[in-house]
Amino acid sequence: MNSQTSTGKMLDNTMAHELDSLFKPRSIAIIGASSKELSIGNVIIKNLVHYNYTGKIYPINLKESEIRNIKAYPTIFDVPDEIDLAHIIIPSKFVPQIIEDCGKKGIKSVIINSAGFSEMGEEGVALQNEFLAKAKEYGVRIFGPNCQGIINADPQFNAYCDFTFTFPKPGSISIVALSGGVGAFIMQSLFDLDIGMRMYASNGNACDISISEVVTYYGEDEGTKAIILYTEGFRNPREFIAAANRVSKQKPILAMKSGRTEEGAKAAASHTGSLAGVDIATELIFEKIGILSFDNEEEMCQAAMAFSTQPIPKGNKVGIITNTGGPAVIATDELISAGLQLPNLSTKAIQKLKETQLPEASIGNPIDVVATGGAIHFRSALDVLMEEEQIDCIYINFVTAPFTDTDEVARNIVAVNKLRRKPMVCNFMTNMSMERYQTTAKILKDGGVPCYSFPTTAAKALGSLYKFHKIQSRDIGKAKTFPDIDKAKVEKIISRNTFKKNDTSGEPSSNGNFLSSADVYEILGAYGIAVANWRMVSTTDEAVKAANEIGFPVVVKAEAKAIVHKSDMGGVVINLKSASEVIAAIDEMKLTFGSSENLQFLVQKFLPGGRELIVGVAAQPELEPLIMFGLGGVFVEILKDVVFKLSPLTELEADEMLSSIKASKLLDGVRGQKGVNKARVIEILLRISQLVNDFPQIQEMDLNPIMAFEDKTIAVDARIKI
Ligand code: ADP
Ligand code: MG
Repeated sequence: MNSQTSTGKMLDNTMAHELDSLFKPRSIAIIGASSKELSIGNVIIKNLVHYNYTGKIYPINLKESEIRNIKAYPTIFDVPDEIDLAHIIIPSKFVPQIIEDCGKKGIKSVIINSAGFSEMGEEGVALQNEFLAKAKEYGVRIFGPNCQGIINADPQFNAYCDFTFTFPKPGSISIVALSGGVGAFIMQSLFDLDIGMRMYASNGNACDISISEVVTYYGEDEGTKAIILYTEGFRNPREFIAAANRVSKQKPILAMKSGRTEEGAKAAASHTGSLAGVDIATELIFEKIGILSFDNEEEMCQAAMAFSTQPIPKGNKVGIITNTGGPAVIATDELISAGLQLPNLSTKAIQKLKETQLPEASIGNPIDVVATGGAIHFRSALDVLMEEEQIDCIYINFVTAPFTDTDEVARNIVAVNKLRRKPMVCNFMTNMSMERYQTTAKILKDGGVPCYSFPTTAAKALGSLYKFHKIQSRDIGKAKTFPDIDKAKVEKIISRNTFKKNDTSGEPSSNGNFLSSADVYEILGAYGIAVANWRMVSTTDEAVKAANEIGFPVVVKAEAKAIVHKSDMGGVVINLKSASEVIAAIDEMKLTFGSSENLQFLVQKFLPGGRELIVGVAAQPELEPLIMFGLGGVFVEILKDVVFKLSPLTELEADEMLSSIKASKLLDGVRGQKGVNKARVIEILLRISQLVNDFPQIQEMDLNPIMAFEDKTIAVDARIKI
């Protein structure tokens, strides 16, 4: 079929959005079109034709007059009409010139499939910059380079501007993937699940049109009901946060990330500075702006099926209808662990079910209509659950019992589904090799009922719908700031240290990039974070004097450039009750650390019996710092019980940090042990968040431990790296 003839019914002539020329092109030039079957310049034309592209195709080739039976032109200037979009599949060195030509021809968007740019080192970067400058000059938008392209499955366009091999049915899910490989298999998975797709974009080097821009575009596209996103991090995270934050308020964004647990584990095992792995940041970005993230691509695609057809539940109460017992039990387990609940049914509902169900049916939640139950039994159960106010969503387990009219059951499920009153998923248990059941399956699918072949899979999909409801109704509020801080003081300390770093004349007060403990404690004090009473001393006499001022018992810590983990090296002695004990401790440390330059001693109030907590900070390139919270002291390394959030923190987020560590119950107190004052801990998190957002110079920070008591919370060890 020659698509050249079908442009008559094209869309209205307006291109409301700049990216319409990319996603809704009325004409496409393939620069580097080829008559070689196994070449990208040939496959793209083949795909456009195969997918019944509704616009005009212009193969551009200097020698050929026709490619795949479509008239070819030597250059774009020979094309008699306007061109909206061009594919560029020529060697990279010719690309800058071609972009200029495209600009002159008035082409609005180009997809550069060719590779050989920023991914190839310096020379490639130079080429990329060269064509980008031309693109800017002429107002041409660039997709790629080194990319697959886009697909628009809307039958109005059928634009398959890509060289892959999956031809999706039209639907309502749009995909954007940094990695073409991942994008392609997500698209194929949706296809295998018989889920339609709306738009697809995989932008490779993403030198101009970014994922953020595509997400915004999908957000504005009415036909897109849900978005699937795959990325390996963000070049401009702030841009993404701003864009996706808007979109995620309107429609679900389902995203995939990988390496979660490994990064998490690695993170907790090392110092806060090295925890700032890209994956953690990406995950936290998703969390902050309400993107549903998945660890598993299959789960994400299965959930997408539910999102593409079902409304979002208004709460977590699920009603189960089944015609066989066991699978409903499996489903219940999964639903419960996803945070859903199975409420009891009302007396009215039970009465109604008693009147309508078979005598052997089990009436309650789950409702077991039993295998001999037919369409009327399923229907009455569905109707009852639709009427039950406390039920937010429905899980159906439907086995195609050979002695029932399964098509009729399916038609009834579909009829209720069409009302879109409450979301439903269906675990459909059957033998798909039998024609009879293929018909039943088709009725369900065509009726927009998301069907799964495992109870757990269906339950997880429903769980995702619920999770999205939770995300949408979670208002994190505004970042909290405290007025009672002394910003100027911290500014002074930091600039003094920053200056000293490059100044060889004076003695730096910092330990490498680590501030001295004295500076650290001053900074904490300036931001209203309580620290154990302390003095920095050089001699035993000064130490005894300091201890008397502070009041016994005290702790003595060795302070010198070379000493990082003090207690590992014998640099911490606690619970010193008298002057002689202080002297002995210092004499001992002098023996151990005598060779250290500028050896000093920190004398500090001993604060026994608190719960040791850690608060950490890690700066991020192009992003606000990460805040870490967890069990501190020796527990950090052993238990790795820490959580992260992207600052600036809101009160709700700080509170969530406390409740999301595994040992959160310890904070409440257990077995006669007292709990900690959580409000004080939350306040410290918020003050630290304010501090590090006020001072982006802070690269790393550790308060480990903070001693948390029933009434107060006091830092006894801290480190700041600038
Ligand atoms: P480092 O982390 O460099 O080894 P810390 O100052 O954190 O040194 O001290 C190690 C441990 O000593 C802490 O985890 C805590 O158990 C204990 N400790 C330190 N200072 C105090 C203090 N002022 N009061 C009570 N215990 C303390
Ligand atoms: Mg410590």
